[in-house]
Amino acid sequence: MAFSETSIIFKPFQSRVWLSSPTMHGDEQKYVQEALDSNWVSTVGENLNCLEKLACEYTGCKYAVALSAGTAALHMAVRLAGIKPGDRVFCSDLTFDATVNPVAYEKGEQVFIDSERDTWNMDPAALAKAFELYPETKAVIVANLYGTPAKLDEIKSICEKNGAFLIEDAAESLGATYKGISTGLWGEANVISYNGNKIITGSAGGMLLTDHREMAEKVRKWSTQSREKAPWYQHEELGYNYRMSNLIAGVIRGQYSYLDDHIEQKKAIYMRYKKGLEDLPVTMNPFLSDIMKPNFWLSCILINKDAMCRQVRSGTEALYISEAGKSCPTEILETLAKYNAEGRPIWKPMHMQPIYRMNPFVTVEGNGRAKTNAYAVERDLDDVGKDIFERGLCLPSDNKMTIEEQDMIIEIIRNCFN
Ligand SMILES: *Cc1c(COP(=O)(O)O)cnc(C)c1O
Repeated sequence: MAFSETSIIFKPFQSRVWLSSPTMHGDEQKYVQEALDSNWVSTVGENLNCLEKLACEYTGCKYAVALSAGTAALHMAVRLAGIKPGDRVFCSDLTFDATVNPVAYEKGEQVFIDSERDTWNMDPAALAKAFELYPETKAVIVANLYGTPAKLDEIKSICEKNGAFLIEDAAESLGATYKGISTGLWGEANVISYNGNKIITGSAGGMLLTDHREMAEKVRKWSTQSREKAPWYQHEELGYNYRMSNLIAGVIRGQYSYLDDHIEQKKAIYMRYKKGLEDLPVTMNPFLSDIMKPNFWLSCILINKDAMCRQVRSGTEALYISEAGKSCPTEILETLAKYNAEGRPIWKPMHMQPIYRMNPFVTVEGNGRAKTNAYAVERDLDDVGKDIFERGLCLPSDNKMTIEEQDMIIEIIRNCFN
């Protein structure tokens, strides 16, 4: 569908076009009903057993423990890594804060590692640099942003060389593969999320994946209040109430057979944007097509430097000045919103977050030096994460978006550059 400039489309979408909304198929209801009928509505039951088995089969990992959220799984992974107060953990900088908060739950200190351009994920060169600066560091948390795998083999081998415990936050990348191997398998402990806007969902939920039997057993115990084998409630270790409910497990169990379909749909959306925006001064969120298969959870664009109109952002607000031939994330997001479509800014890097402003940050951008003070970064514009945040945005990526709706969104974006 093409729109002439004068026909200005431009009636808002009747029903909102979402960034990424849940897609139910009917099987979920059946498994939830079975749980209700058999009264297995708590944190034990057939749905949980089957879901953990499915998660193992799908990724190829040996053990899976179903938990209440991806964040809970990350917390358990940080506990498995043995993080104690004051311990440093190298973390992806450009990510959702759930990736890094569990380090603070244990009173550790995050050292944020800048992104690279090829995948927007943790830069292996910056990670290697960080180990030179802080050689005693015992753990690394790497996230696969928007469903695109990080350079996982490089990151894994740097961790092995330095004796560090690798945690892979595959919350956004379920179904994505790197060199033919599933994401969620590359760390000692790995995390997926079934939160409401992820590629499949149980409304909430998370999973810890590991090949180590002792680790799976520990998490199983810790997440159910750390009961010892005794006739009464006997506790030798700190416990948590992190287990998934058998009802939620029923929803996710019903979703698993549609995961590959969702990936196909998301991939088609990404490809249509790529084609439709080809002649604009933008690029899509990148991946290395010869070695990785993303799950294409969210389609994003990065506006070329010379096509950015002026945009300033404070902590909570943004302003821009419209300019012919140029645009910026704020203009595009506000315009999409006007037409009842939901986009989203790129995750604001952790080193720019007030809560983490004092944490070290390591980048090798610019002249190749390591910056280790977030305040310095405020004045220096040459780190990758900040640049992607300023010039990038997530586009509506809902798998129920029609081709006509997506064509209109492309046209709306095109108009922002007029
Ligand atoms: C969604 C998400 C999480 C957290 O998962 P929840 O299930 O919402 O707790 C963690 N890390 C990343 C990168 C995520 O996108």
